Amino acid sequence: MKNLILTAFTLLLCGSELSLGAPMNALIIDGQNNHDWKATTPVLKRILEESGLFKVDVATAPRDGQDLSGFRPKFSDYQVVVSNYNGESWPQETRSDFVNYVQSGGGFVSVHAANNSFPDWKAYNEIIGLGGWGGRNEKSGPYVRYVEGKVVRETAPGVGGSHGMQHAFAVEVRDSRHPITAGLPAKWMHAKDELYDRLRGPAENLTVLATAHADPATKGSGQHEPMLMVIAYGKGRVFHTTLGHSVEAMKCVGFMATLQRGAEWAASGKVTQRIPQDFPTADKVSSRE
Ligand code: ZN
Repeated sequence: MKNLILTAFTLLLCGSELSLGAPMNALIIDGQNNHDWKATTPVLKRILEESGLFKVDVATAPRDGQDLSGFRPKFSDYQVVVSNYNGESWPQETRSDFVNYVQSGGGFVSVHAANNSFPDWKAYNEIIGLGGWGGRNEKSGPYVRYVEGKVVRETAPGVGGSHGMQHAFAVEVRDSRHPITAGLPAKWMHAKDELYDRLRGPAENLTVLATAHADPATKGSGQHEPMLMVIAYGKGRVFHTTLGHSVEAMKCVGFMATLQRGAEWAASGKVTQRIPQDFPTADKVSSRE
């Protein structure tokens, strides 16, 4: 009986926290990207809002070649900042604001090509852990791969960042103790997407949560490459998803649920969401309109 009362009390507490908690503030950054940010930002915004946890603003940087000096989002007003930005360097003050924001406990989520950004900005690369393109190579840091049951850092020289042909592929959870991946199927089919491989970066305080095999048959690296990662930077929490090349890829329930869970964790340090009923399985893609 005592246990029952305790359980009921705990449920009541959790329930009230979920229903009465004020939404957290999230900020999506876009405005420059070699991907269709005008189409994908509304999708990211809707995914975050559908969790019921976030109120979402968007900060759109001036277009490539225009004056960026006035671009200074107030990061500290947000629990989590989500980057859909791959473009020119930000002004120095904006970069310092961003580093201070994460350092002092702000949440950050890097989506797909956001990890192509800022190859020469040291702190940004420490925050995202791994990145690609923009001249990245062995000087940027190691490759991080999953080999025979463990995460391996490889310092061999070579290009940072590539991908094969777009296709649907299996994502394999490598750390099911983390709140973001806890309860997910060990293996699930992701909708057609670019499978980023050969990423390089400082990879400090980085935990690989899930990988995918970059099959040479689709012109991949032949390695099990990180798809979902978390990075600790100062007091800040970073969720890095390499998935999400297009709207089609973002309609995958696996992309949606991991983004929602990753953003909640980056913002608050915990995950209160259930795994959706229509989450993809080991052999079946599941996408929503
Ligand atoms: Zn892409």
